[in-house]
Amino acid sequence: MTREALWQRLSEPCDVLIVGGGITGAGILHEATRRGLRAVLVERGDYASATSSRSSKLVHGGLRYLAEGKIGLTRESVIEREALLQAAPGLVDPMPFLMPHYRGRRPGRMELGFGLALYDLFAGRRTHRYTDATETQQLAPTIASDELTGAHVYIDATTDDARLVLRLIGHACDGGAVALNYIEATSMIRREGKIVGAEITDRDSNRTATITASVVINATGVFASGLRLRPLRGSHVLLPDWRLPLAQAIAIKHPADGRPVFAYPWLGATLVGTTDVDHHDALTMEPHISRAELSYLLAALHAQFPRCDLREADIIATYAGVRPVIDDGQSDPSKAGRDHTVLTEPGMVTITGGKLTTFRPMALAALRAAAPMLAPKTFSLDERPIFTPTSLPESGLSLAVRQRLAGRFGPHAATLLNKARENDMHAIGALPFLWAELRWSAQREHVVHLDDLLLRRTRIGLLARNGGASFLPRIRAICQEELHWDDQRMAREEADYKERIAMRYGLPA
Ligand SMILES: Cc1cc2nc3c(=O)[nH]c(=O)nc-3n(C[C@H](O)[C@H](O)[C@H](O)COP(=O)(O)OP(=O)(O)OC[C@H]3O[C@@H](n4cnc5c(N)ncnc54)[C@H](O)[C@@H]3O)c2cc1C
Repeated sequence: MTREALWQRLSEPCDVLIVGGGITGAGILHEATRRGLRAVLVERGDYASATSSRSSKLVHGGLRYLAEGKIGLTRESVIEREALLQAAPGLVDPMPFLMPHYRGRRPGRMELGFGLALYDLFAGRRTHRYTDATETQQLAPTIASDELTGAHVYIDATTDDARLVLRLIGHACDGGAVALNYIEATSMIRREGKIVGAEITDRDSNRTATITASVVINATGVFASGLRLRPLRGSHVLLPDWRLPLAQAIAIKHPADGRPVFAYPWLGATLVGTTDVDHHDALTMEPHISRAELSYLLAALHAQFPRCDLREADIIATYAGVRPVIDDGQSDPSKAGRDHTVLTEPGMVTITGGKLTTFRPMALAALRAAAPMLAPKTFSLDERPIFTPTSLPESGLSLAVRQRLAGRFGPHAATLLNKARENDMHAIGALPFLWAELRWSAQREHVVHLDDLLLRRTRIGLLARNGGASFLPRIRAICQEELHWDDQRMAREEADYKERIAMRYGLPA
């Protein structure tokens, strides 16, 4: 459906208006739609353009939270990880983690073994085992070997966070929901003390309209007002996999403060993060890594991979995200709570905090809070599989590529392949994306600006040097054909994109 047609549909009254197109809003849209509610989602930027494309991309229980005694959160997250591994292979995939043990350092073998046993208990399957120093060095030959006594290996999962958001929104729209990006909810409409909808502005064309809804769900993450939020920034760096080749994620105990930092393979690169610092910049500005955070991550890499001699010049890209954490008065940012919070007022539910991994229980919590406001309409809140797993029949493509396409595009993967042009059926450079995917996204995935296509529909902007500038000539041809951008528009999009990559995804000044 065109943007214009979707804009027209926004004026139809709905049951639920969701403000915010990150993972929280996308999860609610998906769950509301399949429960028979007429749901609409508006996102003032691109889908997932805020925190939900800037996470560590882990679908995990969080061993750190277990160590802090947050057993409920860890259990819920492990259960969700298992559900997502089942539902979306190719989008959420298992990732082995290796936690090395060094003489005299905590956690020791017994302590970690106990935590991992509990972790496995929540999952209902055993994934962890202990490896001695020799096997550990075979598994991870580049790690520091002085005083190495062994390691624990266990399984968690990784995802492409932005694509997970897009997949949820796509499913909901296939089921009848309406979602539109670059639409800002500028104010709430109140009648007799109750919120009954929102005024909206199309940031692409500046036109305005009104949406009437039985309930508004505020899923604006760190932008949610009326709550005591403590914005915490986490930054990451990406390295070429040949500079730090890893067969699994390695947990690094940071030499300065003992915090865990992880290095792991992600979409053909090595991702390293995260930091955890108070974010004092204006939330309206796109966050970026600071020099201190960069030095912190490099220090972790030097300590754990001393022979690799990793330097700033090796870094392909950086990114930073801001976490919506409820301020619980903790002085240490890493100890501040990761649970979600739900707040209600007449006609509105606000939900924020939580994790990417737990989007489904968060969505159900928001709908539970909204249910009395939707009466007499009733709906069930039973847990359902997140997606029906899709697979593609055998073809000239490898199993890994077919699984990746099925995971990212779900039921549309087969059509994508059927409609693909022959000369689009090869990878974009050495990246794990086909030109056919990029064209499909340009045609059908609500791309409004070039960064939507290169930073979130595909992750070229994170995985190729200079944001993939060398691919721009062919990308230009595709955008002009599929998005009908004239030369002037294309030049403006490219200039904006290059500036964003340099200022927000590069090395700090
Ligand atoms: C560095 C970092 C690493 C993380 N790593 C992990 C991890 O590995 N695993 C994990 O499970 N979790 C992780 N998290 C947590 C997870 O990423 C967040 O909890 C989650 O992405 C928050 O999603 P959200 O939808 O609530 O917020 P957001 O993604 O920020 O979405 C809110 C959206 O609301 C929109 N919006 C705001 N105001 C308006 C308005 N007026 N009108 C319309 N739209 C509006 C914004 O543009 C934004 O897109 C991490 C977080 C950070 C910061």
